[in-house]
Amino acid sequence: MNFDYIVVGTGPAGAVLAKTLSDNRKNSVLLLEAGENNDRDIPIRDSTTDLGNFFPQYFWQGVGVPQKCVNGKSFDWTTGRIAGGGSSINGMQYVRPTPHVLRHWEGLLGPLWSPVKATRSFMELENYNGKTNNPNIHGYNGRIDIRQAPEVAPAMSKKLVSAIEQATGFKTILDYNDPQTPLGPFNQWQLFQKPDGQRESASTAFLSPDIITPEGLGVGGRLLRVLFESTALRIIFNANRDAAGIEFLKEGKFVSAYARKKVIISAGINSAHLLMLSGIGPSGDLRQAGIPVVFDNPNVGKCLTNHPLNNATFTVKERDIPELFRDPCALYIGGAFLPNPLPNTSKEYRSVQLIGFLEDGLLSILIIYLHPESRGSVKIQNDDPLKIVLADEGFLVNPSDLEVIKGIYRNYIKNIAIRLSSIDQAYQLTSPTMDIIDDNAKLEDFRAYLSPPKRQSAPNSIICPRHPLWPRKHLSRSTHRIFAARLPAISCYIPICAGFL
Ligand SMILES: Cc1cc2nc3c(=O)[nH]c(=O)nc-3n(C[C@H](O)[C@H](O)[C@H](O)COP(=O)(O)OP(=O)(O)OC[C@H]3O[C@@H](n4cnc5c(N)ncnc54)[C@H](O)[C@@H]3O)c2cc1C
Repeated sequence: MNFDYIVVGTGPAGAVLAKTLSDNRKNSVLLLEAGENNDRDIPIRDSTTDLGNFFPQYFWQGVGVPQKCVNGKSFDWTTGRIAGGGSSINGMQYVRPTPHVLRHWEGLLGPLWSPVKATRSFMELENYNGKTNNPNIHGYNGRIDIRQAPEVAPAMSKKLVSAIEQATGFKTILDYNDPQTPLGPFNQWQLFQKPDGQRESASTAFLSPDIITPEGLGVGGRLLRVLFESTALRIIFNANRDAAGIEFLKEGKFVSAYARKKVIISAGINSAHLLMLSGIGPSGDLRQAGIPVVFDNPNVGKCLTNHPLNNATFTVKERDIPELFRDPCALYIGGAFLPNPLPNTSKEYRSVQLIGFLEDGLLSILIIYLHPESRGSVKIQNDDPLKIVLADEGFLVNPSDLEVIKGIYRNYIKNIAIRLSSIDQAYQLTSPTMDIIDDNAKLEDFRAYLSPPKRQSAPNSIICPRHPLWPRKHLSRSTHRIFAARLPAISCYIPICAGFL
């Protein structure tokens, strides 16, 4: 098998690359995906399905190492193993990087990432279906459907957003992707969804029937071949140690494919693993794993950055609940982007993301600290290519992260709780209680109440009911497991998560 390019992984990175490369009808492209193409499965299309708890077949399975700074708990280490990768199982929130983040990336990566150029690229990608005060920063003809939802804010969302506004002093914003309004609370999320609320993934957007046939063959003269259920095992090198191809496993057989121009590894959290399996990585670790060293690169698998996740829970007014089901695919109940809550930090940049959602009849606020200083790593275990990496998320190893998280509770959550209950007494903070927030030791000790992530196998005969507004379950399988537990629950978030910056 010979191609110009071989791309590994059909997640957002691989799907876009394969489609873009094969837009040039002279380029032949092989795209490999370990998972199946499940774009037509109802659970994948239906944005409200509980994928995490009932559909393990869509995920890579793994558990991170016990986290010494989170009371020795381990957390699920998985993401999508399916056409579309993570975008077929994730929380669908469409959040562009802010100009502040893009300027930083521009410094690291060059002018293609300048705020102006990146905004233009986002506009080309999106087909925006929502409101904004700045129509010039959105695109209306791109391949990715973006739905701002719900159209009409329900009372619960209005109460929460108003409480955040009063507690933080930030005015409510209409479009958080508008570079002019990066901070503040809002009633509507922008979601990777079609106008009817069905999931839009990298696969539905870039490997759709106008791009490939159900058998994975390029249409309209496109020299693209997509092989599903094909797991890349290692990169093949030529005598000059240039990447020349990929060895992969298909239907129990080893297959080799060769690339005349480039081999592109876009396997998400498995990319570092694949490099190490191929002999690129820290030489000591590779030798220990029985892998011949091709390039000694001590940085492979290092600097893993993951968002800690925490939450706060409130009682609600029962009467406010039915209204949420008018648009179950809206999934969330308002949210906010806020700056670092600690004194002497910049108040101009996003540092905290709050996401409201309904969980077991309660209003939960999911808290994401967007700029953790802690770093983890992934390490190869042995030369078995199907063995999952040893992932150490390194949660809270840098003590400054815990300080910020405590600050979020003290400066944001506490004040939001006070304002929310004065707006409507039915809304009372239940977890963590105020006395915990007010006591430094108790707030830190609260980690002890975390329960380890439970693993569930999929019952064969289960009919997964529709559970509108249940992001906890929706997200729980892979990286968001913890916020079902008490507080401060720390979980991992996907390492490459530009959307949340
Ligand atoms: C639970 C969860 C919720 C999230 N929520 C959001 C959200 O709301 N909004 C947002 O913007 N982002 C969200 N993200 C992050 C987002 O999904 C990722 O940033 C994005 O999917 C990364 O894209 P990628 O192409 O780099 O990798 P991935 O999407 O991980 O794709 C990698 C692909 O490579 C395949 N692959 C891996 N190894 C091999 C191999 N050896 N051989 C062949 N194929 C292989 C995988 O099966 C997968 O399909 C979430 C992620 C998770 C896990």
